[in-house]
Amino acid sequence: MRKPIIPVPDIKLDSIYKLKPEFLLEAGISLLVLDLDNTLAPYSHPIPNAQLRSWVDGMKEAGVELFILSNNHGSRPERFANELCLDYLDRARKPSAKKLLQVLREKGISPEKAAIIGDQIYTDVICGKRAGVLTIIVKPIELTNPLLAIRYGLEIPFRLIKKRK
Ligand SMILES: [Mg+2]
Repeated sequence: MRKPIIPVPDIKLDSIYKLKPEFLLEAGISLLVLDLDNTLAPYSHPIPNAQLRSWVDGMKEAGVELFILSNNHGSRPERFANELCLDYLDRARKPSAKKLLQVLREKGISPEKAAIIGDQIYTDVICGKRAGVLTIIVKPIELTNPLLAIRYGLEIPFRLIKKRK
């Protein structure tokens, strides 16, 4: 029987820029899996900005491997990954953990050494929980899509739950 998933992220941050490589390395994390839309960039940005590029470079230089796992498809995930010189998978179908587990298997990294960061509980956090990796949630960069805004509203109670130590 599958264990029930409790959709509470392990770590909550305002944005990816609050996440420092030192923290991940101390936690034994060597692979950070990235959501793209509204985590790395808003939908309206077709290419990475300078702040994102320097954050990515900082992670790489410190020895944290990065990988983009996006539910999006078409040219956008590919373009972002190429601009940032990162590997990626699109059409990930999060909250399914299938693609995430595939990435871990291909890289030979155990779930305890990986983390996922994203802006949505329903997709990113549940995917990470299913795969057994550390889950980090950030606030969505932009909430212009009314359907996403509604879903964000529904997720607020889960974002507010304090994890018991
Ligand atoms: Mg997203």
